[in-house]
Amino acid sequence: MRGDGTVDAVVVGGGTVGGWCAWFLRRAGLARVALVERAQLGRGASSRAAGMVRAQGGTPWAVRLGMWSQEFYRSQHELVGADSGFVAQGYLMPAFSESQVEDGKARVAMQEALGLDVAWLSVDEADALLPAMAPHRHLGGSYAPGDGYIDPPRNVAAYRAACLRDGVELLEATEFLGLRRTGAGGVAAVETTRGPIATDRVVLTGGPELAEVGQRAGTRVAAGGARHQVAVTGPDRRLAPGRVRMAFDLAEGIYWRPEDGGLLFGMSNPLEEPGVAKDVDWAYLDKVRRRLAELVPATDGLGLRRVWAATIDFTPDHLPILGPALDEDGAAISGVTVASAGGHGMMWGPAVAKIAADLALEGTSAVLDVSDLGLDRFDRDGRSRLAPDPIALPFPERTNH
Ligand SMILES: Cc1cc2nc3c(=O)[nH]c(=O)nc-3n(C[C@H](O)[C@H](O)[C@H](O)COP(=O)(O)OP(=O)(O)OC[C@H]3O[C@@H](n4cnc5c(N)ncnc54)[C@H](O)[C@@H]3O)c2cc1C
Repeated sequence: MRGDGTVDAVVVGGGTVGGWCAWFLRRAGLARVALVERAQLGRGASSRAAGMVRAQGGTPWAVRLGMWSQEFYRSQHELVGADSGFVAQGYLMPAFSESQVEDGKARVAMQEALGLDVAWLSVDEADALLPAMAPHRHLGGSYAPGDGYIDPPRNVAAYRAACLRDGVELLEATEFLGLRRTGAGGVAAVETTRGPIATDRVVLTGGPELAEVGQRAGTRVAAGGARHQVAVTGPDRRLAPGRVRMAFDLAEGIYWRPEDGGLLFGMSNPLEEPGVAKDVDWAYLDKVRRRLAELVPATDGLGLRRVWAATIDFTPDHLPILGPALDEDGAAISGVTVASAGGHGMMWGPAVAKIAADLALEGTSAVLDVSDLGLDRFDRDGRSRLAPDPIALPFPERTNH
């Protein structure tokens, strides 16, 4: 810290959103940026994710966030000197009903208009491209060759390396306790378990714990956490990366991608209650395995070598939160920005982090117009006035707060 203990910005939460945001703030020229993390960097959702990176979103916001983030992943070596292990694997969104076909084709038109390399594939075209999938099991789907995946622990290592290299002050094992406000409605300092840090600029992140972080800052954040599960099968030659692309069975909330010669698949139970994931729901995992075996027959009976459950962040409309913190009266707390990737931190995280940094510095961002994505879109019960992004896991529709 400076002799007087003042820093130019404090970012709360050392996940992918906070980590990259702190780095963007430093790169933008702030001399002193402190990243305050309760445990260790990546200890939240960011190290536990499946790494799916998709620009095939259901709204123009989602598409733009995905495209910007993929461009960032592709240019990381040059920019950062470290990378998140991005692999452009190609991603199919298969349709299983006529209404999904209609929606999918309309989405492709919207995505193409925004510059995404995406096309609608017929059943035969999709079958030829994805030989590991059961033939003629779907009605065709949208396909983006540039969508892919990152390696989430490698992404944590990348933002840690970037922050260390460029001089972000990493304060791990340091818990954010609250804000010390100025008389004029701004912020004077951040209270932590290591004492106060004087600053007039704060970015609040926290993934599944963002609502609690917000509460400590005196702002109500409609964000929650819920159990999400991921499993990885043992290897099988029928699942070699050339035979498997990424795919999302949207209605069932199941997605998959190649991993170490086997298949990684993730799932969210539509009936899951909000809350912290404490254990694996084996019954639900079995149900998902049956569905997966219908779609990717090589997985039938394959052993699992890894299974984990972790708490995923979500927002009620599946969209990110980017905007000023608001006090109880709905007035902006000057100098305090809130950032959530709404459960899409691998695919949108870098863009969300950059926009949060831009908002903290300028109040606006050239990446995306986020004026509709702030906290003021939610009512006191956390209901959003925006239509939800239709391309999302079946997250709970309400938060646990
Ligand atoms: C199993 C699983 C699979 C997923 N798969 C994908 C995927 O394939 N693709 C995708 O796009 N997204 C995926 N996600 C979602 C993605 O991981 C998250 O959206 C993203 O990691 C959120 O990043 P974050 O920085 O906002 O939060 P986090 O990574 O959770 O980081 C928040 C940090 O804040 C810290 N913190 C909390 N409270 C305090 C406090 N009071 N003081 C200081 N620090 C505090 C926490 O310790 C934590 O380290 C997945 C999530 C899970 C759980």
